[in-house]
This record gives sequence, C-alpha cells and structure tokens, in this order.
Amino acid sequence: MPSANELSQHGFFGPITASLDWCEANYQFSHYIAELANTLSNFFTLYLAIRGARQLQQESLPGRFVVSCIGFALIGVGSFAFHASLLYEAQLLDELPMIYVASMGIWFLYDCQPGFDLSSTQTKLRIAFLLLFDGLFTWSYAVYRNPVYHQVVFAILIISCAIRIAYLLKWSPVRTRIPDDKKHVIASMFTTGALTFASGFFVWNLDIIFCDTLTRWKQTVGWPAAFLLEGHSWWHLLTGLGTYYMFIGIQYITLCIKDDHRKFSVARRSWLPYVKRLDN
Ligand SMILES: [Zn+2]
Repeated sequence: MPSANELSQHGFFGPITASLDWCEANYQFSHYIAELANTLSNFFTLYLAIRGARQLQQESLPGRFVVSCIGFALIGVGSFAFHASLLYEAQLLDELPMIYVASMGIWFLYDCQPGFDLSSTQTKLRIAFLLLFDGLFTWSYAVYRNPVYHQVVFAILIISCAIRIAYLLKWSPVRTRIPDDKKHVIASMFTTGALTFASGFFVWNLDIIFCDTLTRWKQTVGWPAAFLLEGHSWWHLLTGLGTYYMFIGIQYITLCIKDDHRKFSVARRSWLPYVKRLDN
C-alpha cells in the first residue's frame, strides 16, 4: 500500500519546486490544491490580520501597527499560495514576509522616542536599517536557498524581540514610564503569544519527525477526522494566534513608552484582546 505521501506528486501546478514539502499528502483531494488542510488553515491567519487592522483603525492607533498587520496578512496569503502549489516562488511569498514582520517588531521595540511621526533623523535611520536588513536577507536567501537559514534567522528575530521586551520592562531607563500593573499585562500578552507560538513549533517538529506514524493514523481514522492530525496546519493556527498576542504586547508597550500609558488599556472583544484607546 503506498503511503499517503506517494499518492500523487503532480497536480495543476506541475512538479514540486519548493525546497520543503510537508507531511500532508499532496493533491489528495483536489487537482488544484496540493495540501488542502495546510492551505485552508491560512484563513485563520487572514482573519486575525484583518481583525487586528480593523481594531487598530477603530481605535485610531499608529499606522505602523497597521503595516505590520498587512505583513501578517501577506504571510497568510503567501502560505496559502505555497501550500496550494508547492512552488518555490510561492514558498518565498510565505517565508520572506515572516522575516519582514519579525524585523519590523524589532524596529518598534528599539524606537523609544516620544511620538509616532517618522520625521526625525533617528527614525529615518532605523527605517533605513530595517529596509537594508530585509533587502540583504532577501538577496542572501535567493543565493543561499537553505530553508534552515531562514528558520534560524526567523528564530533569532523572535528571541531578540522577547529579550528586548524583558529589558524594556525590567532594566531600561524607560521602564519608569509604565506602571507595574500595565507591565504585567504587557508581559502576559507577550508570554501567552510566545508560548502559543512555541507550542506551534513543537507540533511542527512532531509533524516532521513522526510523519509515517501520523500518516498511518490518518488512514486508520479516515477523513475528515484525519484533518485534525495535520500537524503543520496546527502550526499555522498556533503561530497565527501566538503572533496576534505578541502583536498586542508589542503595540501596548510601544504606546506606553512613546505616548502616555494613561491613554491606553488592553480590553477583550469576543475572546481576543486588543489595545483600546481611553481618550476618545
Ligand atoms: Zn506552512
């Protein structure tokens, strides 16, 4: 009996050119979508990105956060295209925005000057540095096409965000601008996000390491229940939710440092947190 992975390697998009392929069987349910669950699970990322951007606009929060939500949505669109086609170009549409959004998070966390306009020389320099970093990564990844290189750089960026937040809250001179109860909320948002993200990474690994076992289980259970065993789809759901929470933590700490903490709080609207403006 062929394994699910050997069912079909060809569909509408032709031979697989991506440098990665996942445990989910290719073209099992559709001639047009290589990995059905891994493709459709990206709708959750899109939902979170659109919802996040709408809330930012409703609360009149800085445009830079909306740009990060657009980047978040692009990851979802790129990932949709990648898992639907397994083409190398689509893989880049998934992987590159991950680096752009994470590096944008670093920019947010290193900008501690008051106000959100982009006119100061320091802000322009930081944006130039960000664009230079993203440009260099894009070029180097086009030359050195090892997906592990992308994964390591992405992990370094996320860990750097976590270290920077810990520094800002505990040791930096700007820590005095944030009262303890709000520091607690920031830490809790970012930690919830990081742990949710890390649990996604754990499942991502399980899906790769135990693919043969999982494939046998899927065939035993049968579809649609077997969709619940698609570990990479769980990675999409968990990292999407984790990113959303980390976004809220980063938005809140940035607003407290660069503006006035008394103007903002974190509220919840149908199960998800968002930064609420108190002065309108
Ligand atoms: Zn994926």
